[in-house]
Amino acid sequence: MASHPVLDLAVIGGGASGFFTALQYAELAPGKSVAIFEKGSHFLQKVRISGGGRCNVTHACFDPGEMSKNYPRGSRELRAAFHRWQPSDTVEWFRHQGVELKTEPDGRMFPVTDRSETVIDCFLERARKSGITLYQNRPLTGITLLDDGTFSLQFENLETPVVARTVCIATGSLKGSSLLQHLKALEQTLQPLVPSLFAFNVSDRRISDLAGVSHPHVSIRREGTSTARQGPLLITHRGFSGPAVLRLSAWEARELAETNHHFPFIIDWLPEMKPDAIQAQFDDNRRTHGAKLVRNSPIPPLPRRLWERIVACSGIEDQTTWGQLPKAAAKNLLDGLKSARFEAQGKTTNKDEFVTCGGIERKTIDFRTMQSRNVPGLYFVGECIDIDGITGGFNFQAAWTTAHIAATDIATR
Ligand SMILES: Cc1cc2nc3c(=O)[nH]c(=O)nc-3n(C[C@H](O)[C@H](O)[C@H](O)COP(=O)(O)OP(=O)(O)OC[C@H]3O[C@@H](n4cnc5c(N)ncnc54)[C@H](O)[C@@H]3O)c2cc1C
Repeated sequence: MASHPVLDLAVIGGGASGFFTALQYAELAPGKSVAIFEKGSHFLQKVRISGGGRCNVTHACFDPGEMSKNYPRGSRELRAAFHRWQPSDTVEWFRHQGVELKTEPDGRMFPVTDRSETVIDCFLERARKSGITLYQNRPLTGITLLDDGTFSLQFENLETPVVARTVCIATGSLKGSSLLQHLKALEQTLQPLVPSLFAFNVSDRRISDLAGVSHPHVSIRREGTSTARQGPLLITHRGFSGPAVLRLSAWEARELAETNHHFPFIIDWLPEMKPDAIQAQFDDNRRTHGAKLVRNSPIPPLPRRLWERIVACSGIEDQTTWGQLPKAAAKNLLDGLKSARFEAQGKTTNKDEFVTCGGIERKTIDFRTMQSRNVPGLYFVGECIDIDGITGGFNFQAAWTTAHIAATDIATR
């Protein structure tokens, strides 16, 4: 088989970060040869399923310092990187391509079409116009640095290796990747790969049959720690999900992995009320609504069904009125509201968004260029790096930002 011409840039992985790198490079270095090699039979598969099929492209936070606080890993590096490419640049870039984004009340940004296909169509169309060569069913199986500083790339389904001057690894999560041994051979060290952004499996009578009940604001922490995560919570068929739970899963991804996702945690159902304030409310109910049933007086914003269950699980009979409530039972109720202890028995991956914590060690990458500190010409972008964000469009923004920085540097080589 004849050998291929030497490529200026070989992008490994046809996902969000790979496409953005190739598109930006093609814009900045017209006339150079660039190809994307995708393992699967479809490009941009994660973009397709992202954000429940709507693609949460980025987050409406335009201050690099504030933005960087949403990344349990990579915050420091991204803070500087966002000065180079941040959500406002993403919004502007998409607008320039004819894709308008809209902001939801919680800050998440989606295409106005509410369809992830809008992003995919935009990328594929731009790639075609820019002359980027796209290969499907081409898993990279080996990468060797040649004496002249170029790379020899071996692919499944391709007899002759491809030679490239620059290689950008955009493979997403490296969990189970056959590339690991090759990256190790190139002296790229790795932080252990563990899941982030998952729901907690909990079997407990306080929440049985309450699937679908949501609470607008709880505080949740791992037992034995003092840092709590706040936000809405959703009771599911398997346990707990929702932003507060996903935040805890992200910020403590490593610690939770060490427990094999079996760990005790504490929920404060009324984080905006101090215990004294709740006690004062109980006393007031006793004085002014003595004949009212305890289970009929939920404290906002607790959903009624959840309140009824917490009351019952505190040992308070259905027919107990505030006037009849014994002191000990009131104390149980207060504890059940402020420090409800649950046991997680495993995790469920959230269907809207999950990512891998860990990956190529950040210190082995120069974040001014996204180039390996060990191997000139080798770049890393997106989720393969030990960077991950909480839910809300932060993971895609990290992909766009790292891709932009890599493309800019590769274009000047
Ligand atoms: C269900 C779900 C929903 C999500 N929703 C959102 C959201 O709305 N907003 C958000 O910000 N984030 C979301 N995320 C996270 C986001 O999708 C990822 O952070 C993002 O896709 C990372 O981009 P990437 O290009 O680094 O990796 P990927 O998008 O995973 O792309 C990597 C590509 O490389 C290919 N590849 C892997 N190995 C090889 C190989 N050896 N050779 C060739 N190709 C290879 C893969 O097949 C894949 O196509 C979601 C994740 C999931 C799972």
